[in-house]
Amino acid sequence: MQRLQAFKYELRPDGQQAQQMRRFAGSCRFAYNKALALQKERYELGEKKLGYAGLCKLLTEWRNSSDTAWLADAPAHPLQQTLKDLERAYRNFFAKRADFPRFKKKGRSDSFRYPDPKQIKLDQSNSRLFLPKLGWLRYRNSREVLGAVKNITVSHLNSKWFVSIQTEREVERPIPNGDAVGIDMGIARFATLSDGTYYAPLNSFKRHETALRKAQQAMSRKVKFNSNWKKAKASVQRICARIGNARRDFLHKISTAISKNHAMVCIEDLQVRNMSKSAAGTTDQPGRNVRAKSGLNKAILDQGWSEFRRQLDYKLAWQGGWLIAVPPRNTSRTCPCCGHVSGENRKTQAKFECVECGFEENADLVGAINILRAGHARIACEVSDAVRSPAAGTHRSDSGAALCHA
Ligand SMILES: [Zn+2]
Repeated sequence: MQRLQAFKYELRPDGQQAQQMRRFAGSCRFAYNKALALQKERYELGEKKLGYAGLCKLLTEWRNSSDTAWLADAPAHPLQQTLKDLERAYRNFFAKRADFPRFKKKGRSDSFRYPDPKQIKLDQSNSRLFLPKLGWLRYRNSREVLGAVKNITVSHLNSKWFVSIQTEREVERPIPNGDAVGIDMGIARFATLSDGTYYAPLNSFKRHETALRKAQQAMSRKVKFNSNWKKAKASVQRICARIGNARRDFLHKISTAISKNHAMVCIEDLQVRNMSKSAAGTTDQPGRNVRAKSGLNKAILDQGWSEFRRQLDYKLAWQGGWLIAVPPRNTSRTCPCCGHVSGENRKTQAKFECVECGFEENADLVGAINILRAGHARIACEVSDAVRSPAAGTHRSDSGAALCHA
């Protein structure tokens, strides 16, 4: 099966290359914003939106016009890619998957993409790669790139430059390892497995929260944009980067361990985004217990549950296993011993004690066991459906072409 994978490295540009990359990112942002402004104008005049080809034609005009001749210094393909991104942003908007496209701001996800592998040279043994108009760039070679290079994205974050190399390769369909397991996600324990093992939370945000708050306060006391403010801002960014790195590392370690040792993983189908949205409420109906809820939300977001689920999904697919999401009905209230369902069974956040048969266990473990059972039940239903109408088949998360950052 085909595997798409992205390999990300820190770039080590010299001064001139760093300056060039800043300019290229700026040119791409300019082209994007100019095209977006134009589309908005056309809309207000009742004219039809320009397609990608039409925008590319305009881009050539801009590159040739004396007002914006500096656009010609940037490589052509990345500029076109940014127009493609705008097209996609519009498509997502019309399909109701995203908000209306917004203007890009400097310093927020500055990046540009080289789509043509023929223009890219990767020299792994010398830890360098060649990009049009930048020449040979050195990078921190932390691991081998596998597969054929498809495209390359250069991005800027916290005053560092990164390169993400998308590749494609053929791999054998793996045979999954191990048996089925249910996972209960929680605050006190990040994840509890139905076999009894559990992972403590990282709470990277909490740990760095004090440092971050102090740094942010220091920044707010400085005069905006002067040199002390810039220093304070850099320190805020450093702490944020540290939080992000610690969390990414934590989630990857756990999702790798679980996906390597289980052929089937059942999790609760929690709508993390909804849970975190609802706390504040609206102006008409302000949410209740906003403070307590936003505390929970912060914990949920800090844990990175949705990112964890995304990682589990593609890693299981790579191992030949599958991820099954089950609705979270009664998973915390059902006795795994006698099947009695009652809110009373859950004595405290941590303790489960059945009012019917007296079965006692850690509440998260009970949740994980019930989730595993619900997963098995779903499979059984789908299999019997498939037997009755062979066309239906089972839903298998068979995204062998899962995209990820390694
Ligand atoms: Zn019971």
